[in-house]
Amino acid sequence: MTLPPPVASSVEAALEQHLGRPSTIESASPVGGGCINPSAKVATDTGDTFFLKWNPSSSPDMFHAEVDGLQALGKPRALRVPEVIGAGGSGTRENPGWLLMEFIPQGRPGPDYGRRLGLGLAALHSAVDPGGETGYGWGRDNFIGSLDQANDPRDAWPTFWHDLRLEPQLRMARDRGHFRGRRGQVLEELLSRLDEVMATAGEGGPALLHGDLWSGNYYPDSEGDPVLIDPAVYRGIGEVDLAMMELFGSFPRGLWEAYHDKRGIPPEYDAFRRDLYQLYYLLVHVNLFGGGYVGGSISAAERILRQF
Ligand code: ADP
Repeated sequence: MTLPPPVASSVEAALEQHLGRPSTIESASPVGGGCINPSAKVATDTGDTFFLKWNPSSSPDMFHAEVDGLQALGKPRALRVPEVIGAGGSGTRENPGWLLMEFIPQGRPGPDYGRRLGLGLAALHSAVDPGGETGYGWGRDNFIGSLDQANDPRDAWPTFWHDLRLEPQLRMARDRGHFRGRRGQVLEELLSRLDEVMATAGEGGPALLHGDLWSGNYYPDSEGDPVLIDPAVYRGIGEVDLAMMELFGSFPRGLWEAYHDKRGIPPEYDAFRRDLYQLYYLLVHVNLFGGGYVGGSISAAERILRQF
């Protein structure tokens, strides 16, 4: 495939800085599986390979937020995260945004893949002082899919979950005409009772979260070690990452036990907090993909309120 010329020349400049010698791109082959950006495995004349993604239309801030997230996730050394080589561009056709990182080939999940991922995730969620700040939130805003994810810090977890997660997505969905029927009012009822619903939430936090841990955002490397990509990091509660992993599938075998042994998973998670944390991602899906997720969002809110 042919890379946009401004991306190719900026990438070569970044590679020269990274490798300490001039480097030209010999080939670029498309990599599938992403949701937003064209991406490629790039091979240089020196025989090195890298992973590159670019986008002529989305804000370059998206890639800068991803750099910030990958670097934060890599710091505790809990799980493998690709090393960032560089990012740039201005998000226009003439000068598309781009992000270059270490290429980590996909391997096969060994029998203990789920266990390794569970232990790594528990270690990530136990990282001390993530982001060098306190409270729930993050030092910068980022993105969930292509939507803005604001991270202004809050001292209390229920306040953060209300103000920065559920409420903005519900407002956006309503502005787009969703949840107009009588059943849709259950969402407002849930939001108004969040202090009660989340009275015991917040144990073990704030924890560094991946923030968008669907199955496309982790995979085994050639040694069978889990790799994390494409994060939407902030300091939250670890159960949020667990809930996202379970939203459209199930945990890899052994993950639950390994995570539970290290950090514990409280019974409230099973009882209603999985639904509470999945609700954010369901609302995001309503806003990204439309009405197909409205029924699931309402059912989740109804199940939660039935417990109170
Ligand atoms: P998008 O921003 O479009 O969602 P992703 O970051 O999810 O793109 O990447 C798209 C796909 O590329 C992933 O599903 C994965 O298979 C592959 N990929 C992502 N990062 C790397 C990497 N560092 N090395 C090798 N393959 C990668």
